[in-house]
Amino acid sequence: MSTPIISGILLGTVGAAAYFSPHLIRKLEEAKLRKSCREQRSLVLTYDDGPGEKLTPRLLELLDSYQVSATFFLLGMRVQKYPRFVNRIAEAGHELGTHGYYHLNAWKVWPWLALNDIQLGYRTLGDAVSADSPFRPPYGKLVLPTWWALRLRRAPIGWWTVDSGDTNAQLPQSDEVVKKVKSAGGGVVLLHDFDRQGNQAGVRADFVLETTAALLEAALVENWKVQSLGRLLR
Ligand SMILES: [Zn+2]
Repeated sequence: MSTPIISGILLGTVGAAAYFSPHLIRKLEEAKLRKSCREQRSLVLTYDDGPGEKLTPRLLELLDSYQVSATFFLLGMRVQKYPRFVNRIAEAGHELGTHGYYHLNAWKVWPWLALNDIQLGYRTLGDAVSADSPFRPPYGKLVLPTWWALRLRRAPIGWWTVDSGDTNAQLPQSDEVVKKVKSAGGGVVLLHDFDRQGNQAGVRADFVLETTAALLEAALVENWKVQSLGRLLR
């Protein structure tokens, strides 16, 4: 192979490795997050992709009955549809973060589109969030430009340590999620509060509520501190 071709391949490989390097950063930050949860004996409940007109109010009521704060990573396009929930969530004492506007996967779209989606997500929430409110990447995917944009904002990236599986094709049992958090000594749990469509909508909404309640019951028994992600990171 000629030298220009080899140089081209090398450059391309280094470029791609740099572009997708936030994936490695994610692994390191997740390990740190697991350690913080264990050391602080913490349970952090996080809800993505909402607000959901039906599920969010039920969830707020449940969280209120346990007098705990959670973190909501709101999706711009749903905020646009149901703006009244933004203040309602904040006034109930929960933390607000952003999750983009269109829920774009940064690995699958041009970087400027992913960057624009982050900006739009923050802008849609207006004064309800600040420039450095936490951001949860849709699908957990970041690339170098989006990672840098969040660094410049000083916005913490909202990784999670336990996926509840509430969007999996096969729903797990709530107990399995509790077991995972128990064996890790705490955790940041990923759940979703948007309203699902189709024949499984009710089952999935119930799963989110049941799992939340099961985790909060376990927190009482295990003496976990239930707090927002921002508090855990501080
Ligand atoms: Zn999402």
